[in-house]
Amino acid sequence: MQTKMLIGGSFEAGTETEEPILNPRTGALILAMPEASAAQIDRAVAAARRAFLTWSRTTPAERARLLLQVADRIEAEGDAFAALEALNCGKPINAARGDEIPAIVDCFRYFAGAVRNMHGAVAGEYLPGHTSMIRRDPIGVVASIAPWNYPLMMAAWKLAPALAGGNCVVLKPSEQTPLTALKLAQVLAEVLPEGVVNIIVGQGGSVGNALITHPGVDMISITGDISTGKKVLQAASRTVKRTHLELGGKAPVIVFDDADLAAVVEGMRAFSFYNAGQDCTAACRIYAAPGIYDTLVADLSAAAATITYDAADDGANEMPPLISLRQRDRVASFVQRAVDTGHIEVTAGGAAPGGAGFYYQPTVVAGALQTDEIVQREVFGPVVSVTRFTDADQAVAWANDSQYGLASSVWTRDVGRAMDVASRLQYGCTWVNTHFMLVNEMPHGGLKQSGYGKDLSSYALEDYTAVRHVMIAHG
Ligand code: NAD
Repeated sequence: MQTKMLIGGSFEAGTETEEPILNPRTGALILAMPEASAAQIDRAVAAARRAFLTWSRTTPAERARLLLQVADRIEAEGDAFAALEALNCGKPINAARGDEIPAIVDCFRYFAGAVRNMHGAVAGEYLPGHTSMIRRDPIGVVASIAPWNYPLMMAAWKLAPALAGGNCVVLKPSEQTPLTALKLAQVLAEVLPEGVVNIIVGQGGSVGNALITHPGVDMISITGDISTGKKVLQAASRTVKRTHLELGGKAPVIVFDDADLAAVVEGMRAFSFYNAGQDCTAACRIYAAPGIYDTLVADLSAAAATITYDAADDGANEMPPLISLRQRDRVASFVQRAVDTGHIEVTAGGAAPGGAGFYYQPTVVAGALQTDEIVQREVFGPVVSVTRFTDADQAVAWANDSQYGLASSVWTRDVGRAMDVASRLQYGCTWVNTHFMLVNEMPHGGLKQSGYGKDLSSYALEDYTAVRHVMIAHG
């Protein structure tokens, strides 16, 4: 297993405090990983700055050629990447291999193509005797900080557009899930010029903080909690660094009486509990119309109870454990406080099944009110609340009554109603009669405190490049 950091052209272990890397399925220690020192962080940033001088001058075609090689290498080693992600995150191997790896490979391929089609506005004479043109140029060194829920995919979402745009990167994966990023380091070191990508490991408060406050960093890209995003903004304000924030979510799901009930139940069974709900777009906050509410609660609860999650044969598993004991306890405490309200009923799950792994049962809580904590706050676990609404205006108002604004969905057979509700929801994405579906060509990102960075699509390429004006005097 490749467990060393990539700094410039060299692989080296951190020299500071060790972080235990655990297998969430068993709680067993995989290995202890020492974090980067201040000197190592400095060298990683310096290597990126040096590499930027030449990488930023390469043509889009040259960068695309190398990104395609990265994609091919990940694809060729897909089984090994998936096995490592499954080990470190507890993900069912079928999800890691079948869902994540192909999307990661396609992310690199998408940006390899997109950068060759990135055009500025046409040149023209806006002042007599002068021609103006617009350029899109790289920003410099990007500090990219990733969370633990999709470690390799988040690395890909950050690396591919930044590199395609001509930037160099210092990536810090989550201290809990560094293994696939470090395996990727091996591929990147073989394919890319020295220093274009550097990967360092460590805790957010130490290594992450040193990176985002580093004077040699020009832009910070972070996916994480709102509180972490606020720290990034404070750090960025000192030297006015560009920021790209992808923060949490609390996706509302509005289900009208005329919705296809079986499709809703099948959809929620998949989209509420995928990755054990450790997903910023998880369908976790259902608003159900009065005529469908009772059947939906009953059918969804029955469906949730059929989810396989701790079978010895991993091929049968549909849901992973939580990432850590701490996260499982956090999820359990949310459910306990919901029960303590007296008006919320647990209609499926509601407990940790026991054993050494960090599992929590797929859980449905019914009778939740708009003001309840379980409706307002991100649980980031396999817990979905159901709330009854009376009319469309109330459903939209409740859905929008949130500090989050990442993803949402509306379920109805009435196209006009779907379009009307979609136009009124304040979310970066609204799905109609589905949820959770992402494609590399379309943007992913939020409104409000979910942040404003766009991942995927040409909009991500815009986020990782600067608009510049060049004016030429004719005379
Ligand atoms: P987190 O905010 O605790 O950590 C995210 C990353 O930030 C980690 O690498 C961590 O080490 C680092 N970090 C923490 N404090 C830091 C600091 N002071 N300075 C610099 N770096 C610091 O989040 P998490 O628990 O790893 O992930 C879960 C959160 O991420 C959830 O809130 C979830 O909704 C969010 N998320 C959002 C998206 C999205 O696209 N919007 C995607 C995935 C996850």
